Amino acid sequence: MTVQASIGIGANLGDARGTVEQAIARLAALPASRLLAQSSLYLSAPIDSSGDDYINAVVQIGTGLSAHDLLAALQQIELAFGRERPYRNAPRTLDLDLLLYGSEQINRDGLIVPHPRMTERAFVLLPLLQANPLARIPGKGTVQDLVGLVKDQSIHVLK
Ligand code: AMP
Repeated sequence: MTVQASIGIGANLGDARGTVEQAIARLAALPASRLLAQSSLYLSAPIDSSGDDYINAVVQIGTGLSAHDLLAALQQIELAFGRERPYRNAPRTLDLDLLLYGSEQINRDGLIVPHPRMTERAFVLLPLLQANPLARIPGKGTVQDLVGLVKDQSIHVLK
C-alpha cells in the first residue's frame, strides 16, 4: 500500500542550500518511495533557534514505508549530514520532519503525526501548500485555511 507523506526540510549551517538540495535527492531515492512534488526553496528567519536564516522546503512522496520506518530513514539522512544536537534547538546541518502521513494521526513510540508544531510555522505551511495545494492536516483543517494564521512571519521564496 502506498501512502502520500509530506516531509519538511530545514538547514541553517554551512552550505544550507546545497544541503537541502542533496536531502531532496536522498528523499527521492528512499526505498519503496517516489518523489511526487517538491516546493521551491524558502528563506526564513530562525524561530526558537539561533544562527543564520534557514533554507526550507517541503517534499511530497508516495511511500510503501511505514511511518516509523520512514522516520528512521529520515533520521539516517540527518545523521549522514552530520547533524549534532549539542543543545535543544541548536543550529542544525539538516532537520527533517515527518509532517503528514496520509490522513493518519499517530502518537506512538516517539513519533507524533501530524507534526505538533507545523500549524504555527509559515516555513512549513507555505512550502507545503505549494507542494500539495489540497493538503489537509488531520484535526486542524486545510493548509489553505491555516496559512492565514502565519502570514506575519518573515519568509520568502529563494527560487
Ligand atoms: P527535532 O530535534 O525537532 O528534529 O526532534 C527530533 C525528535 O522528535 C526525534 O526524537 C523524533 O523521534 C521526534 N519526533 C516526533 N515526531 C516527529 C515527526 N513527526 N517528525 C520528526 N521527528 C519527530
